[in-house]
Amino acid sequence: MALLLPVDIHSIKGFMEPVEGEALHDTALSVAHLGPVMEIGSYCGKSAVYLGTACKAQGALLYAVDHHRGSEENQPGWEHHDPDTWDTQAGAMDTLPFFRATLRRAQLEETVIPIVTQSRLAARHWNIPLSMLFIDGGHAREMAMTDYRGFSPHVMPGGILAIHDIFADPEDGGQAPHEIYTLAVNSGLYAPLKMVQSLGFLRRVLV
Ligand code: SAH
Ligand code: MG
Repeated sequence: MALLLPVDIHSIKGFMEPVEGEALHDTALSVAHLGPVMEIGSYCGKSAVYLGTACKAQGALLYAVDHHRGSEENQPGWEHHDPDTWDTQAGAMDTLPFFRATLRRAQLEETVIPIVTQSRLAARHWNIPLSMLFIDGGHAREMAMTDYRGFSPHVMPGGILAIHDIFADPEDGGQAPHEIYTLAVNSGLYAPLKMVQSLGFLRRVLV
């Protein structure tokens, strides 16, 4: 059966294919009764609608970490820049108003908790076990590594780690998400579950 979302998903700017989003939703739905979900990298809220809708159905919360200033490839002059997101007063991108409007339209304001800061700051005192962690923030090597190191230790046994933009072939895209995916597998703490386009799912083993 086709997934019914509370909002027209195509009206939300973002970087997530419907088939990937549906996999995110279904996976979150299967674990969110265990605890809160976190996403790193919200942009205008596309993935947050998929994850948040699943969390809402399970009475869980979604923490959504993003400084809302855009990744490298979202900046002016880069491939994924959208001039609508430019804040002239700040002289920088600002996707927070779009994200906020998405949460309101999708009736997710009591489900999604935006954390508007750099992921390394959000990680510093983080101590809440997560039923699922979705990493889709900065794709530079150092940032992907910071996200993996900072938050993956908080995924609970039996919980899910999902990583977006995994490309085995460097011709297809940057290698940082693939590197942290490989780190997770080699750690022995995660077992690969499935791959949906460039979205990889792993399950934290029960130890
Ligand atoms: N998941 C989104 C797309 C995310 S794009 C969707 O479904 O459309 C990547 C996002 O990560 C951008 O919004 C950017 O602002 C954010 N980001 C990049 N580096 C970050 C960092 N170090 N800390 C917090 N957010 C970051
Ligand atoms: Mg992505």
